[in-house]
Amino acid sequence: MITLICGSMYSGKSTTLLMKIQRAIYGRKKAVLIRAKIDDRGYFTHSLGNEELRQFVENKKLTVLEISEFTEEKVNELCNFFDSIFIDEFFMIKNCALLAKKSLPSNDVYFGGLIATSENEVFSEMIEILPYCDEIVKLNGVCMECGSQLGNYSLYKGGNKTQTIEVGDINKYKCVCKECYLKINGRL
Ligand SMILES: [Zn+2]
Repeated sequence: MITLICGSMYSGKSTTLLMKIQRAIYGRKKAVLIRAKIDDRGYFTHSLGNEELRQFVENKKLTVLEISEFTEEKVNELCNFFDSIFIDEFFMIKNCALLAKKSLPSNDVYFGGLIATSENEVFSEMIEILPYCDEIVKLNGVCMECGSQLGNYSLYKGGNKTQTIEVGDINKYKCVCKECYLKINGRL
């Protein structure tokens, strides 16, 4: 089964992914967490700051890999060895659709990530995996401006971006609702 966990920044995607990882491990599945390895900037996503996650890794219950691109060989290797495959920030990894397409019916694959850039341009990786997803979980965050539960926009706070994916945290991005997004952009 393939599940997509998507939404804006700070909508709880990684927390939801962690919950799924816990369930897989408690169910004695062979589990792997794949994170994006981004060129020369090292890898991003959230650190292994979560204590439970760190213990899973230390106790060899969870394998963590950094990948920049899915190849045919890598996909076959992953699907044959692991039961449960978790991908955090999948849109930063090239060729995700190959994993979605080639995974076996016995594999549980979870893709977690943003739908679009802070300019609301949908990531091509997102579009490419959609036909293969059996379940889609769409999360909203809390608006960090007004407190609305409809925080659906990732607002970039740093002026002009130099690249489509700019690795950042709470200092660079915040989650806002449509009303606040439009107000901040002077369109309301
Ligand atoms: Zn708001």
